[in-house]
Amino acid sequence: MTEYQLNVAHLYGNLMNTYGDYGNIIALTYYAKQIGVAVDYQLVSLGDEFDDQAFDFVLFGGGQDYEETIVAEDLPAKATAIKHYIENDGPLLAVCGGFQLLGHYMVMADGTRVDGIGVMDHYTTNMYDDQLTVLSGKRLTGNIVIENNDTGEKYHGFENHQGRTFLGEGERALGTVISGNGNNGMDKTEGVIYRNVYGSYFHGPIFTRNGNLAKRVLATALQRKYPDVDWQARLDAVPTESF
Ligand code: GLN
Repeated sequence: MTEYQLNVAHLYGNLMNTYGDYGNIIALTYYAKQIGVAVDYQLVSLGDEFDDQAFDFVLFGGGQDYEETIVAEDLPAKATAIKHYIENDGPLLAVCGGFQLLGHYMVMADGTRVDGIGVMDHYTTNMYDDQLTVLSGKRLTGNIVIENNDTGEKYHGFENHQGRTFLGEGERALGTVISGNGNNGMDKTEGVIYRNVYGSYFHGPIFTRNGNLAKRVLATALQRKYPDVDWQARLDAVPTESF
């Protein structure tokens, strides 16, 4: 029997799972297992209650515009609980479409504005300017490398989005773009960090390709739940994988 356990929620995992974002949970579980921590997985989707007290880590993956509109209709029912979870320092990874929907709104490729739940302060416009001219770069697609400004760690990923995200009050970037496009192709920011929320456009998935980040977030989740153990030290003893 394992003494320690993390309860993981996969928000809309049956709709929002672009390029196997679920792999982030596999990566987290891979490291957790090596330090004797069991991971319990729960899909939380349309019509399900999100109990913010029940989870120690949440993944909200990416999806295309169509899936995002479906999810956007269900999200308001979960918004208060998600806000509580975030403001209570719950660790959460939001990728691409999930990252967009936690903000105020996102504008789809066809110009339709879809409301997010505004539990974070960013917003996402589309690839057109006010005159409906396609901005340079069109879809922001390809390999990307960023550097985290606090740790100097470099993260590698693959991005494929038309939305242009701009960070807001209290939000800082997950990293500065070294090569690739990032949040909007303009301000060199990629992703977001707010409290214990990590947002990113990286698929790949981000935790499998960047074991250092997976371990950092896992340590955060464990420290929050079991404060008497030095989780970072335990994880430092585990080799970091990068695929
Ligand atoms: N539909 C969004 C966009 O293209 C998100 C895409 C994704 O999650 N890969 O901006």
